[in-house]
Amino acid sequence: MPNTPIYFDYNATAPLRDEARAAMVLALDAPGNASSIHSFGRQARKIIEDARGHVAALVGAQPKQVIFNSGATEGNNTILRGFPGRVLISAIEHSSVHETVKNAEHIPVTRDGVVDIAAFKDMIATGPAPALVSVMLVNNETGVIQPVAEIAKIARDYGAVIHCDSVQAAGRIPVDMNELGVDFITLSSHKIGGPQGAGAIVMSDGAIACIPVPVMMTGGGQEQSRRAGTENVAALAGFGASAADARQHLDTYAQLAQKRDRIETILRSSSNRIMIYGTNAPRVANTTAFSCAGVPAETILMNLDLAGVAVSSGSACSSGSVKPSRILRAMGASEDDARSNIRISIGWDTSDDEIDRFATIWQALAARLLKA
Ligand code: PMP
Repeated sequence: MPNTPIYFDYNATAPLRDEARAAMVLALDAPGNASSIHSFGRQARKIIEDARGHVAALVGAQPKQVIFNSGATEGNNTILRGFPGRVLISAIEHSSVHETVKNAEHIPVTRDGVVDIAAFKDMIATGPAPALVSVMLVNNETGVIQPVAEIAKIARDYGAVIHCDSVQAAGRIPVDMNELGVDFITLSSHKIGGPQGAGAIVMSDGAIACIPVPVMMTGGGQEQSRRAGTENVAALAGFGASAADARQHLDTYAQLAQKRDRIETILRSSSNRIMIYGTNAPRVANTTAFSCAGVPAETILMNLDLAGVAVSSGSACSSGSVKPSRILRAMGASEDDARSNIRISIGWDTSDDEIDRFATIWQALAARLLKA
């Protein structure tokens, strides 16, 4: 029997958890519109409210603080467009933040990919008080955890609204809205084992009380009139179930680091041209970002794909040319290194056997492409 392909791309999208699939199948069989008053409607409403409870619990919030939407791109757009004025974002934000406020000022990061607090202090103290500061909790390319609570404390002194894209953090490290001290966080279902096309903005109690919470979709009164449109009941059921399951397994998530470290040992021992990023910073347990100097990411990616290993490149590929990774460039990597950037991201279903198979595949590939 041929080997099954190896999925090492959890940061792009994680496999659907069994619990999420089961919850979705049940919800798909319930025909009600959650706004309807009859029993079918009430059943759909209950599914959504149960999901809201699970998502809130994952980030230390109350259900009323959760506004469901179609995913983190929508959530980030809603918040980033909602506070015109001076906007500071980290230099390593996801494109759904980065592309949304073109004239945002970029807070630099260190070589390990951590927001530079001293530089942030200087920036925020110079010029008008910012309307909004947006810094992600975990970077999607490197897995590096950002000092968001510290950043929020500083930003608060200047009266800024604080947003934190927590997409790659939820379900991997404890996330607590109150401890972070931010006004808004954004989440995405498919990064934690729920379906694609669902997500949430979570508002702090303080934000509900004193910040006009931005609204992008107007129409019906769904989601406290903050996000109009008939709810995707099945997707939210899956999101809720995945949040509950992720929370239940949060204690053991860090053990994935053993598997990640094995992968990094395999990479390092294959060639001294391999550079792994963010290793001196706190990182989530599942992500390895590395470059293979001189070899375009696309070449590595396609060869791995042919051999049955799915990974990702931080470098955008358009019209045949690989663009250097914006994240690695912000971390001070050379253009060459940033062009040969590969991300391996593993997860709860990654087995030791898959890592053994990866080792064989990688060693053969490195011998071919990375001869010193
Ligand atoms: N932020 C981060 C950090 C992400 O990794 C992603 C997904 N790649 C998003 C936002 C966008 O999320 P969604 O796919 O739900 O639109």
